[in-house]
Amino acid sequence: MADVLVLCYHAVSERFPAALSVTPEAFERQLALLARAGYRGATFEDAVKAGSGRVAAVTFDDAYLSVLALGKPMLDALGWPATVYAPTDYLDAPERPLKWAGIEQWHGGEHERELLPMSWDQLGELAEAGWEIGSHTRSHPHLTEIGDDALRDELVESKRVVEERLGRPCATLAYPYGDHDERVVAAAGAAGYAAAGTLPARLHAERPLAWPRVGIYHDDDERRFKLKVSRVMRRLRSSRIWPG
Ligand SMILES: [Zn+2]
Repeated sequence: MADVLVLCYHAVSERFPAALSVTPEAFERQLALLARAGYRGATFEDAVKAGSGRVAAVTFDDAYLSVLALGKPMLDALGWPATVYAPTDYLDAPERPLKWAGIEQWHGGEHERELLPMSWDQLGELAEAGWEIGSHTRSHPHLTEIGDDALRDELVESKRVVEERLGRPCATLAYPYGDHDERVVAAAGAAGYAAAGTLPARLHAERPLAWPRVGIYHDDDERRFKLKVSRVMRRLRSSRIWPG
């Protein structure tokens, strides 16, 4: 059976002190560690379907511009593709910083430009280079907190827009904040997604439409990164004895 490791990143930056940003140096070290451990990189869609071996899917939520400038060259050096999850409503105004609960505190300050998203053209370039572009919904809501019609719209419309803009299928989704429940998972399946990533505090069983991703953050030093990605620790964290 394949050992599928799905990592969730957001921004890559030298200076951005947010929890959701990692430095290029840390990112490079983390990738090197995985490559040395025998992982091969894949898109999320391919990783979920992998039959054997150690497969690492690097995913980036929110489509930060910094991923293109600082993350892609390091993945290119390994020949690894990655997956970007795009909140589609925001990408028609690429000079407008992303804004929702959790990142809005960075607006108006010196780091505001770290919140700029990629343009559709830039996402198209990534897709050309073998990356996967998936949906991160239209407006980045907590999906468990919205009604059925709004839920369907967030899932169906974002998928349609990615497909229309990039001219290729949008097969996977990342739930904003990792927030999901059985109603949301069923709606993702009904909207036509083949797979979707969560971001749980406690890892859970792997299902294509609720696939636990390991979130990597600013303060994850090498020791903590190794712990998070270790297969034994992932098993332990998915069991009931792990608190939180
Ligand atoms: Zn997000």
